[in-house]
Amino acid sequence: MTEFVFVSVGRIPLGQKILADKLNERGIKTKIISLATLYEKIFDAKGEDAYKERKRVKAFQRGVDAYLKGVEGKIQGAQFFGMTFFDTIGAKETSFVISHAIKKHFPNSTLIAGGPAFNSDPTSFLKESKADYALRGEAENTLPRLIEILSKRKKGNIKNITGIMFREKGKIYSHPSSAKLTPTEIKNSKFTYIKEGRIAFTYSERGCKNACIFCTVPRKGNPMNIKTETIIQGLEQLTKNKEIQQVSFVDNHFFSNSKRANEILNEIIKRKLNKRFVFDCATTIEAFIKNGKPNTALMKKAREAGIMGMEIGVEALNDNMLKEIKGKRYTKVQAIEVLKAFKKSGIQTNNYMLAGGVHTRARDFMESYYNALRLEMKGTAFFYPMAMIGATKKTPIHRTAEKENALFTRTGRNVKPTRKGKTGFRIVVPKDEALRKLFIEKLKRGEGRQFTSSNIPNVVKMGQESNDKVMQKYARKLQKMEGEEKAIMNLLEKLSINIRTHVVAREMQKKGIKLTNPNLKKFLQNPKTREAIETLSRKTLDSYLTQSIALKKLTGVERLRAIQKLRKTTGIGTTYNFRLKKHARTTRR
Ligand code: SF4
Repeated sequence: MTEFVFVSVGRIPLGQKILADKLNERGIKTKIISLATLYEKIFDAKGEDAYKERKRVKAFQRGVDAYLKGVEGKIQGAQFFGMTFFDTIGAKETSFVISHAIKKHFPNSTLIAGGPAFNSDPTSFLKESKADYALRGEAENTLPRLIEILSKRKKGNIKNITGIMFREKGKIYSHPSSAKLTPTEIKNSKFTYIKEGRIAFTYSERGCKNACIFCTVPRKGNPMNIKTETIIQGLEQLTKNKEIQQVSFVDNHFFSNSKRANEILNEIIKRKLNKRFVFDCATTIEAFIKNGKPNTALMKKAREAGIMGMEIGVEALNDNMLKEIKGKRYTKVQAIEVLKAFKKSGIQTNNYMLAGGVHTRARDFMESYYNALRLEMKGTAFFYPMAMIGATKKTPIHRTAEKENALFTRTGRNVKPTRKGKTGFRIVVPKDEALRKLFIEKLKRGEGRQFTSSNIPNVVKMGQESNDKVMQKYARKLQKMEGEEKAIMNLLEKLSINIRTHVVAREMQKKGIKLTNPNLKKFLQNPKTREAIETLSRKTLDSYLTQSIALKKLTGVERLRAIQKLRKTTGIGTTYNFRLKKHARTTRR
């Protein structure tokens, strides 16, 4: 009978899997249930802005209630529940909804909480989650110990468990330290993975030696590695699962120790694991800088080992912002050179960007925003929307923002930090007058904290209204870029319609249906046919873009052959002239 149930809102509950294995080793039967499908259905399409909509939050509450009611039979008798909490936007609308529902549906059970939120704001999260216990830090040893005592398998004083928190006589008892695994324990950890479709998610190290001012990485300091041989043997085991085609390393930064990363890559190549899997991971810009220049040899090795994509926290493409946010670990020019070199080596990068710290000036923001949009338009790299920084308690940026009165709510209200014992999401809004106005107006319009290309008109306006020549220059550049973007979008729209028409005609012809208006209407009435047409049209469009851009490099007979192939495979010739590569991006997952 299941004794311990982990409830996750994520699709890849790797952390819970590691803990579940530890409990299983001690004879405690576990189960992991994921509410990811429900979460994605309700919130994902609109991103974090969806948390503001009461209707969605209510729907999520109802969904969680129904889900827990549905699984009651399967987990009857479970005495313990476990949940991970993150001190970020949406905790109230998602994690707390689930933890409260657990307490409602399983009133006699014990809820144990953990996760990064208990490093930044432990008291508030214990109170608001309604959890019975919380464990701060790495819980591989402390969670089994706690369960053994609570289930009376072993005797002991729970107050002595490192990192524990619980309510006692109306107060909160909190052990003074957080639990931390020793380097040897991490080194000897076993290979653990979660399979999601054709991808296996795993990790090879823990921790980060950097100190970005906004980051809440739980383990600071030099990363500790699992033995290389353990990782390689684990990958070899994975080859037996025919469905798995891709392996994703979820380490903070796979290349933080390049010697060790090289060791893994060499083994992957030597044992031909690169022929079996494609890989992806996260990294930093500085991990790929050697003697001030992009480390192309390391990129080549990564590509040879089958790494096709990397997630990078670039954070800014302006030197002042990089100095403030990332501690000047690389310059704007270096970051751009590294991204270009990645592109050249065939590795796709997906990059995170931040909109600015307390001291970011409007001209810094404009340069960073322009550079990211430009690189994306050229097809050099992909950027997630530039986000205003969420200030987590106990981070340096939270301290500075508190001192400088730069904390704001999601609706653009200037506020103090949340009171002790209360959680809440705070956004950093720079002190610079023009930039502050831009941020606040955006928040007040209810547009959320992310800047995309749709914000170009507002950013241009800010530049035009300024006396600063640099801002005026970027306003002109952005305006020009917006014009180019619009032209491409128009072209794309026309091309999509043309391709869809061609696909429909071809499919009707294949089925021997004469192309007449009534036949067409009838043909498209079937939802399955419509879906198939959409999928086929999308694929044809991708193929058209890739081919038409590639043939620009060709001349003579080769070019003619490529045009013939383009016509044959897509049904359309070279009418559409795409100069920019952005739309021919290949997706990684
Ligand atoms: S953002 Fe990345 S590099 Fe910076 S401290 Fe956090 S984990 Fe380390």
